Amino acid sequence: MAMRIDADQCIDCGACVEPCPNQAIRRGGEEYTLKNQTYPALSDKFYVIHQLCTQCVGYYDEPQCVNACPVDCITADAAHEESHEQLEAKAKNLKPQK
Ligand code: SF4
Ligand code: SF4
Repeated sequence: MAMRIDADQCIDCGACVEPCPNQAIRRGGEEYTLKNQTYPALSDKFYVIHQLCTQCVGYYDEPQCVNACPVDCITADAAHEESHEQLEAKAKNLKPQK
């Protein structure tokens, strides 16, 4: 399951960006690129690109963005449910792209 940022609670501090091993978090209003395609921003606040979020599986035991967020507004995204095995496979697929 990817993580999601609650835009109503996010204070736009950016503390979650640097700890993310998958560069899955972007600044609000900024477009993002995935597989050479550019997409519009998903939010006016910082947001998670669910295709890039492995819940930190493959890197850490816990989601690093959750630990970094001072207002606890990052939670599991029920709209993108994935098993641990699926997250491991996702992490393997993402690593060679770097
Ligand atoms: S859970 Fe990990 S991979 Fe997902 S957005 Fe947070 S820091 Fe990035
Ligand atoms: S750390 Fe939390 S409050 Fe700060 S930008 Fe990220 S989601 Fe928003």
